[in-house]
Amino acid sequence: MVGFMVVTSPCIGTKDTACAKVCPVNCFFDAGEMLVIDPHDCIGCGLCIPECPVSAIFMDSDVPEQEQAFIARNRDFFTGKSAEELDRLRVT
Ligand code: SF4
Ligand code: SF4
Repeated sequence: MVGFMVVTSPCIGTKDTACAKVCPVNCFFDAGEMLVIDPHDCIGCGLCIPECPVSAIFMDSDVPEQEQAFIARNRDFFTGKSAEELDRLRVT
């Protein structure tokens, strides 16, 4: 199974959206202080990883121990949001 990417803490305070500009499936969303990735839509292509100036993006299986909570933080962002709301928060 192909993994998915997770945005972690270094995005907070940077959030320059460089990652979102290269994502072929537009699965980055504005979660306030940071961007998050939709784990269901991410195809695991890896294009976003080298774009991030603060190395905040990891494959789910490679998330550092101290950043593990961000797996849920990315995933939980999508719970209970309507398609319309998500469309407003999508970053491209
Ligand atoms: S790995 Fe590819 S599909 Fe997933 S968020 Fe990054 S650019 Fe988008
Ligand atoms: S490139 Fe990195 S710091 Fe910039 S928005 Fe994306 S994850 Fe956040």
